[in-house]
Amino acid sequence: MQTSSHPQGIAQLAGVQGWLIDLDGVIYRGDQLLAGAPEFVAALREEKVPFLFLTNNSSRTPEQYAERLSRMGIPAGPQDFYTSSQATAEYLRREAQPGIPIFVIGMDGIRQALEKAGFRITQDPSEAAYCVVGYDNRVTYHDLAQAARAVYAGAQLIGTNPDPTLPVEDGFIPGAGAILAAIATAAGVTPLVIGKPEPTMLSLALERLGVPAERAAIVGDRLNTDVAGGLRVGLFTVLVLTGSTRRQDAESSGVHPHLIVENLVELLSLWKRRFSL
Ligand SMILES: [Mg+2]
Repeated sequence: MQTSSHPQGIAQLAGVQGWLIDLDGVIYRGDQLLAGAPEFVAALREEKVPFLFLTNNSSRTPEQYAERLSRMGIPAGPQDFYTSSQATAEYLRREAQPGIPIFVIGMDGIRQALEKAGFRITQDPSEAAYCVVGYDNRVTYHDLAQAARAVYAGAQLIGTNPDPTLPVEDGFIPGAGAILAAIATAAGVTPLVIGKPEPTMLSLALERLGVPAERAAIVGDRLNTDVAGGLRVGLFTVLVLTGSTRRQDAESSGVHPHLIVENLVELLSLWKRRFSL
């Protein structure tokens, strides 16, 4: 079996005490679980190693994710997930007055997270203190115009995540970052972005995990979000090749993960042997 491209990375696995695990391209692709995913998660649970499933996707609630993953064959509860929606709500809970009005483009995930954090979602752009933008597959020109009006009227523009695209069966569709870019362009502002590779969601996830960055790892399938973000906050970074990155892309990139593995089968095998590598 081919093992890591970064042998010095392997030894550092022994120091890892908690995991942030990307979902899409790592645990599943579409509705298909990826090889080794149930076993890797089961091993962490058995060893009582803390982990969180981490996703930039702001459209689903943790309850919806838990239901989906359990249905696919990995038993999970809402507490196992940390989404860009939860991170956005947590960031605002620390920054803003409770109850302030927020104009939102987005779906259940972000709306529920903001309401749970005690904010009021408003349809009136003139009263909004923040304009929060996530993925919304029913967004209209009217929504974009109202969001821009909120920013013109003084609301701060916040994006749950910067993803330009979302993977679908037959390729890609515009993601939250594309919607955000339309509003940012119209309003002439630079938004604050919460999700990977920006540090806010990663730092808040580490707090939730209860493990300091230097003893935590992230495993993901994208160099420019999972790995770049992980490196930025000081995590041990593992790239899996089951998603959007091929080995040759990884080797020619300027972003260098500590470890590259084919899939979670290989990562689990290294993890089990980590004290003797
Ligand atoms: Mg991914």
